[in-house]
Amino acid sequence: MLNGLLSNCIFCRIGNGDVRSDKVYEDEEFFAFKDINPQSPVHVVVIPKKHISDLSVASDGDKVMLGCIQLLIAKIAKQFSELNNGFRVVSNCGYDAGQTVFHMHYHLLGGRIFAWPPG
Ligand code: 5GP
Ligand code: ZN
Repeated sequence: MLNGLLSNCIFCRIGNGDVRSDKVYEDEEFFAFKDINPQSPVHVVVIPKKHISDLSVASDGDKVMLGCIQLLIAKIAKQFSELNNGFRVVSNCGYDAGQTVFHMHYHLLGGRIFAWPPG
């Protein structure tokens, strides 16, 4: 199922408030919260509330959502002074990329210097 909420999806449950999280932002469409296992001083996970497993299954109907979520990430970044000098936005897509939660999300990372290429 690509639309709506999945009861066995941890990010659907965080997005609808069934599972507690350290919330950073919420509106009707999106939810952002601190990662439980932060990889940098600032590590926020930003999700659409609507379930979509990963970017590879996004369609033309998701164009507005995908634009809005990136603008939202930039807006959230402004809330953290640690990100004034830059931040990284990552969306792991599929097993080879290291995706572990199959509800599309973006990681907003910062507060330290990152290496490139990533591991
Ligand atoms: P992925 O590995 O799929 O790119 O990212 C999933 C992220 O979700 C990981 O960084 C992981 O630490 C985080 N995560 C998984 N379960 C939970 C949870 O229940 N609460 C929070 N706050 N983060 C979670
Ligand atoms: Zn979900």
